[in-house]
Amino acid sequence: MSSDTSTEADTVVQPRVVPGRAAVAGQGPATLRAEAVSAWFGDHKVLDRVSLTMPARRVTALIGPSGCGKSTFLRILNRMHELVGSASLAGRVLLDEQDIYDRGRRITRARREIGMVFQKPNPFPAMSIYDNVLAGLKLNAIKATRDGKDDLVAECLTKAGLWSEVKDRLRQPGGALSGGQQQRLCIARSLAVRPRVLLMDEPCSALDPTSTRRIEETIAELKSEVTIVIVTHNMQQAARVSDTCAFFLASHGTPGVIVEHGDTDAMFDSPQDERTSDYVNGRFG
Ligand code: ADP
Ligand code: MG
Repeated sequence: MSSDTSTEADTVVQPRVVPGRAAVAGQGPATLRAEAVSAWFGDHKVLDRVSLTMPARRVTALIGPSGCGKSTFLRILNRMHELVGSASLAGRVLLDEQDIYDRGRRITRARREIGMVFQKPNPFPAMSIYDNVLAGLKLNAIKATRDGKDDLVAECLTKAGLWSEVKDRLRQPGGALSGGQQQRLCIARSLAVRPRVLLMDEPCSALDPTSTRRIEETIAELKSEVTIVIVTHNMQQAARVSDTCAFFLASHGTPGVIVEHGDTDAMFDSPQDERTSDYVNGRFG
């Protein structure tokens, strides 16, 4: 931890892995709240006391230039940050007011309740579309009957906006799909364990405009069932898909902070901070 940027109020949470069974299934969309989250890689502090409420049944967009800590913040929200050996963090993350870093809580439960979709679609390429959707069940030791599996596959592919395109070829490998379809398959896979929050880190940046629009439609349809937090570099996308927005910035090598957050329309139409105005209008970043 670097002494110049941290304070004694920072309590560093040590990475901790608790083996064990998966917890019970989620209970619908939850509000996720970060409280004074700071993060380090070794001595390098990359986030400084970031607080943000990501309301249930809303899409929250995280915007800001590269390197300001958006992905790090997202990984802290589902306990993936602690997988990096040199990583440490301070602060709290509350899922419906329950601290996901609480010592009594299993790490597997946080990852199950708070799913993640990455920039590059990462289905298991040789595994069938059907088995890809169910892959998270095995990892979480969730049992399902044959009929239950069929129903779950259909339900999740429908929610991810992919069902009509793949229903006749569920046994084909996931790797045979187009990039946009693979990303929707990854969304279906995330949904199968019934997360309460879905984190998406630039989910469209490797996709063509048509696939991008398809994913954006999917996000709009999903938000009634799962809280969504999306990192995007595309300002039009942030304006189109999100209800609330947070602008991150790390100026001149200082750790990332949230400069401004609030209602997306207000952030774009009448930002309070000049730096937000410059960024959303494409004057830097
Ligand atoms: P963003 O997603 O906004 O582009 P990141 O969260 O990826 O930003 O990175 C924030 C800072 O943390 C950057 O300075 C980056 O170099 C650093 N960083 C990210 N991941 C690691 C890592 N695994 N090890 C060391 N430093 C890292
Ligand atoms: Mg990133």
